[in-house]
Amino acid sequence: MNFIKFFNRGLLNLLFPFHCAGCGERLSPIGEGSLFFCRSCISEISSFHKVPIKPGTYAACKYEGIVKEAIHRLKYGKKRFLAQSLGRILTNFYRENLDPEWGQRINLIVPVPLHRARERERGFNQAELLAVAMSNTLNLPLSSNNLIRIRNTPSQTLISKAERLKNLKGAFRIRRPQYFSKKNLLLVDDVYTTGATTDECRKVLKKAGSKKVLILTLAK
Ligand SMILES: [Zn+2]
Repeated sequence: MNFIKFFNRGLLNLLFPFHCAGCGERLSPIGEGSLFFCRSCISEISSFHKVPIKPGTYAACKYEGIVKEAIHRLKYGKKRFLAQSLGRILTNFYRENLDPEWGQRINLIVPVPLHRARERERGFNQAELLAVAMSNTLNLPLSSNNLIRIRNTPSQTLISKAERLKNLKGAFRIRRPQYFSKKNLLLVDDVYTTGATTDECRKVLKKAGSKKVLILTLAK
């Protein structure tokens, strides 16, 4: 019985692969817009942060409502297909708000890495899935194994700011710094909380000789 249910769902997904990233409703294959959200959900995503959080650091949406829901379903519900829709939000934000303003072309898209153990536990790195989606639509190369996380830090929300900063120190490493040298990088992450993680990554990337590091997160 379960097998038949599974099979049917698999077949439906194959025929109509797009589900609303906000509510999970299956979308008709035509005419639902480019963001892969249904009409009612798309009207809810209005709060894009067009101004940077700080120089070189952007968040595309507010971490609330259907975006928050979709991120949760991606990370904890392991709905990988949502990375396509959420990645589209990042791509559109990049095109509309960053590309012309920033001027210089990005050489590489780099996702904020998870520690090996964490990634194995989850089965994927959500930041990497978002970066892959961006890389495909923007046609920009991706680097997902040069910046690595060598220390598994406890969940950021459970500890104090001072502890968080201490934990992050030395948590990232670059395997081949020459690969990032003189490059403009777009660092991608799913959620911006305090910025400690992306700041630490940027520090490490700059130390490796990269020219500019632009940070784009999906939601703050
Ligand atoms: Zn919806």
